Parts: sequence; C-alpha cells; structure tokens
Amino acid sequence: MTNPVLGFFAPWLVYTGILGLHVVLPARSIEGYAIDGRGERLRYRINGLLTFAVSLVIWAIAGYSGVLPWDWLWQHRWWGAAGACVLGVLLSLAAMAWAPSTGRSFVAQYFFGRAENPRLFGGRADAKMVLYLVGAILLELNLLSFVAHHVLAYPGDPSPGVILYAALLTWFVVDYLVFERVHLYTYDLFAERVGFKLIWGCLAWYPWFYCVGLWAVAALPNAGAPAWLLVLASLTFFAGWTLARGANMQKYAFKRDPGRPFLERFPQTSISDGRRRLLCGGFWGVSRHVNYLGEILMATGLALSLGRPSELGPWLYPLYYLLLLVPRERDDDRRCAAKYGELWERYRERVPWRIVPRLY
Ligand code: NDP
Repeated sequence: MTNPVLGFFAPWLVYTGILGLHVVLPARSIEGYAIDGRGERLRYRINGLLTFAVSLVIWAIAGYSGVLPWDWLWQHRWWGAAGACVLGVLLSLAAMAWAPSTGRSFVAQYFFGRAENPRLFGGRADAKMVLYLVGAILLELNLLSFVAHHVLAYPGDPSPGVILYAALLTWFVVDYLVFERVHLYTYDLFAERVGFKLIWGCLAWYPWFYCVGLWAVAALPNAGAPAWLLVLASLTFFAGWTLARGANMQKYAFKRDPGRPFLERFPQTSISDGRRRLLCGGFWGVSRHVNYLGEILMATGLALSLGRPSELGPWLYPLYYLLLLVPRERDDDRRCAAKYGELWERYRERVPWRIVPRLY
C-alpha cells in the first residue's frame, strides 16, 4: 500500500536526518582547496563514511523490524522523486534569498547560485559537502530498495546482473565517501556557487537518476545474461575507475606537494612558467581530462552489467555523462586557458587530446 504524502516528503525527512547525523557525529577537520574572503583555505568537517554507515544501519533496523518494507523507496519512487524535485526548487530560492546579488540576470543567479561557500550550524557543515553527502546516501538507499524489489519479485531466480549493478554502483558511492577529502579539490567545490544546478542536482537528480538502470529493469525477470557480458561490464567499470580515481589522486597529491613522487614512487612530471605548475605526465599526460573518460567508462560498465544491452533505460546513464562532461571539459579548458595563459598553451601542445587519447 503506497502513501503518496509520506512518499513525497520522505526525501525531506531523510535529508534532515542525514544532516543531523553529519552535524552530531565525530568528524575529521580537513583543509580544502577553496579560499575564503580573507584569502585563507576553508576547513571542512569530513565524516561521510561514518554518516553513511549509521544511515544504513538505521535503514536495516527499519527493514528487519518490519517498520519499513525493504522496497518502500521503490514503491514510492515517483512520489519521492517529485518531493525531491520540489525541495530542490524551493531550497534554490532560499539559497538565493540569503545571499547578496552577483549582478547577473535573475535566471543565471537562480541556476548557478549566489553564495560561493555557505556554511551551516556555525561552520559545522559546509552546504556543498552536505548536498553531495545526502545525495550519495539517498542514492544508496534507493539502490538497495530497488534491488530489494527485484529480489522480492523473483525470489527463486533474481538476475545476477541486477546484483552486479548494485555492487558496482555501491562501489561508486563508497569510493566517493572514502575519498571525500579529495573531492575538496574538484571544480564544483572550489569554482562553483550554490544554486539550482548544485542543489537540485544533488537532491533530486543524483539519488534518482543515477540508478536509472534499475528503474528500467528492476521489475523485469532475469534476462539470463551470459557470464562473459558480466565480466566485460566489470572490466569496463574498473578500467574507468582506475582512470578516474588515479587521475584525481595524482592531481590531489600534486596540489598538496608538487615535489613529492606520486604514491611515493612515480616522480611527478610537470611544466612551469616559474610561478605555477601543471602536471603533464602520468594520467595527466594521457589526455587533459582522462578522468572524464574514466567516468564515462564506469557508466558504460554499469549499463552493461544489467545484462540487457538492447534495453534503452540503462544507456541513459552513460549518455548523460557524455552530455555533462564534454561541455564541462570545454568550460574547464577555457577557465584554465584564462588562468594559466601561455603555460596552458604549452600543456595543450604536449597533451593534445581533450578526453579520449588519439580520438578527441
Ligand atoms: P578536474 O578534476 O579535472 O579538475 C579540473 C581542474 O584541475 C582545473 O580547473 C585546474 O584547476 C586543475 N587542472 C587541470 N589540468 C591540470 C593539470 N594538468 N595539472 C594540474 N592541475 C590541473 O575536473 P572536475 O573538478 O570537473 O572533476 C573532478 C572529478 O569528479 C573527476 O574525476 C570527474 O570525472 C568527477 N566528476 C564526477 C561526476 C559524477 O557525477 N560522477 C560529475 C562531474 C565530475 P586549478 O588550476 O584551479 O587547480
């Protein structure tokens, strides 16, 4: 029996609960890459993995005790997605009301945001990191609930592809939380403002769209996919993960200490104009955004893992990454060209490929 009102407000309640856990649970204080108004590096309370674990335990207790059917979020998926969309729209308005104008058009300020690094609870929570955290945890809860629906529907013959998909996407979420501090060095954290794009993106899009593969197939029976397809899917996913995680870790290590070998073994090859440095070796010598290629491969591996390559739904996820990351690379390239000038030109000459070596 579905309860539309509860379904609609479920994400509001879940997000409030996760925010509460994040604020009260112990955390490590980590210096980020973004600069505050006084030119000092911002510090962040990082406890994503612990908040994730406690949230999962609460979900499991609710499931075992019978308070919440295991597939409750699946049953209420449309209501939940609608509630999260409305919440995203309203919070984006609130974020706009609380921050001074940037002078751009109303629509641009609403979409891209006004405040750069809003802090909550006297600095105990950073709005951007909270948005990513709550989105990641609700994505995992949706994932578990959607898989539960599949297993409950086909207890005798659940699809190995569905289980593999859940395992790989869980890897993706946990990987983000394990390396949460590395995310402090990514574009959205140090270069973007908090507006509809980030708020709605984290609250509505991330938890519901990223598991789009299961929206499409969780209610279908086992497709009987051959083992080689599942192996191929896993290899594609982990090849992508190696590129994305490797490139991010290499840049993170370089920004913290350019003179130190990566993983204590590989000297960092870089170019310099005497003032600034850019990596041009390792992952950053393969293409200028090989990390984006990694993300696209991971998404492709996920689509394949469901074992229904002719089904359209799972392919929406890699398609979304193409639409997101190709323009994002162009934006970042423009930003870096303006920031580094002639040094960026030299980097472009040394590493001519944008994302895919020898192709693009
Ligand atoms: P990058 O991690 O590629 O960061 C770009 C910034 O890194 C540039 O603006 C520049 O910043 C610096 N930089 C670029 N080239 C070099 C170089 N050669 N040497 C040193 N510094 C360089 O991009 P994003 O922040 O967009 O992405 C971060 C991660 O998040 C990626 O792995 C990406 O794939 C992932 N991601 C995941 C998404 C998802 O939904 N799963 C969505 C979007 C991204 P500066 O000079 O100011 O330091």
